[in-house]
Amino acid sequence: MDAVREEEEHEVVIVGGGIGGLATALALHRKGLRSVVYERSESLRAEGSAITILRNGWRALDQLGVGDVLRDKAILVQGGQGIWVDEGNQQQPIPFPGGEARCLKRSDLIKALADALPPETVRFGYKVVAVTMDPENMFPTLTLNNGSSIRAKVLIGCDGSNSVVADFLGIKPTRLFALCSVRGLTSYPNGHVFSPELVRIKRDRVMVGRIPVDNNLVYWFVSVPLSWLDRKFPDDPELIRKLTTKITEGFPSDAVEMIEGSDLDSLSITHLRYHAPWEMLVGRFRRGPITVAGDAMHAMGPFLGQGGSAALEDAVVLARNLGRKIASLSPYERGKEIMTDKIGQAFDQYVEERRMRMVRLATQAYLTGLILGSPPMSITKFIAVIIMAILFRDRNEHAKFDCGNL
Ligand SMILES: Cc1cc2nc3c(=O)[nH]c(=O)nc-3n(C[C@H](O)[C@H](O)[C@H](O)COP(=O)(O)OP(=O)(O)OC[C@H]3O[C@@H](n4cnc5c(N)ncnc54)[C@H](O)[C@@H]3O)c2cc1C
Repeated sequence: MDAVREEEEHEVVIVGGGIGGLATALALHRKGLRSVVYERSESLRAEGSAITILRNGWRALDQLGVGDVLRDKAILVQGGQGIWVDEGNQQQPIPFPGGEARCLKRSDLIKALADALPPETVRFGYKVVAVTMDPENMFPTLTLNNGSSIRAKVLIGCDGSNSVVADFLGIKPTRLFALCSVRGLTSYPNGHVFSPELVRIKRDRVMVGRIPVDNNLVYWFVSVPLSWLDRKFPDDPELIRKLTTKITEGFPSDAVEMIEGSDLDSLSITHLRYHAPWEMLVGRFRRGPITVAGDAMHAMGPFLGQGGSAALEDAVVLARNLGRKIASLSPYERGKEIMTDKIGQAFDQYVEERRMRMVRLATQAYLTGLILGSPPMSITKFIAVIIMAILFRDRNEHAKFDCGNL
């Protein structure tokens, strides 16, 4: 933990140093705006082992100036196929967006974003426990876990699906899907034999997905109905591996061997969460000079592989609007309350630009989660399939989005 004075003051404070927080700090930095990120972990945190970035995410990474560094870290993914074990290992192509898609180690992504920031932008080991706002000048104050306070002119909450900033804004808490996901990496020092595609293998109500990161490393995930597990998830990686091996009994041998041979320190198990899409449609995402980005605004489950890319898009759109507004302020205005109004206007534009994008992504992800999590032949599943067919004729439309220039 770096030393923090009793009460510090900063222009722009970001809570959370995950993908969203680091990308937002970097986007602001590229617009000439300095920010400070408060992250509760003691070092860069990359839980979840790997992440698929589709072409909309690569566009955002290019705007942030780290696309090319990251392209060297992962091979191109060229399509997808589904295998249905219950139907005699029947194979079918599955919708997979065209254009650039790669699966990155999360640590590579986080590191590339952090390395591009000015030194000491991220303060590790500080958990924000409360947010308040001065009723006179609307400036936010954050209380940290060590009892000290931070005053800011601008506050951006990138603190994930259990966000203290979202809570301050009155955003409804995330809900739980009836699904859990186990994620891990398996190393093949002599190279693996898998094709460069996303493969989903389904048996009963369990799905195993795999996608190569490079020629020696494969990312995999297993989604399983919550009702199949004990409520208490194991923390011990050895137990996670044992549990996952048991759940995937009867799957093709290469999938079982991949899980048995996984790197223990890459394993994690997560109960999947989401913000209800209908609440996003009307939600208030800005109060005074305070807003949110990433999962704090739109947690959506992993089914489209878009939550992280959407956080990168948020960063670009937020910094574009904030940069434009701050550039238009006179030096006199920058120090005064009038700034709070202008920041508020910039954040309203940001929310306006993002709202329908989030609602569409979250709706498609929500319907996919319902379809995967509901028992076969259930009425819920039937209705979700019909709504999906009506609203999302092109299942890959989501990856064609362009967040524009920084
Ligand atoms: C199983 C699974 C698979 C996924 N796969 C993909 C994928 O393939 N592609 C994709 O694009 N997305 C994927 N996602 C979604 C993606 O992981 C998230 O959307 C993304 O990580 C959101 O980033 P974030 O920075 O908003 O939040 P987070 O990654 O949750 O980061 C929040 C950060 O804030 C910190 N923090 C939290 N509270 C505080 C506090 N009070 N004070 C200080 N710091 C705090 C945390 O320590 C953390 O570092 C997946 C998600 C899951 C669950």
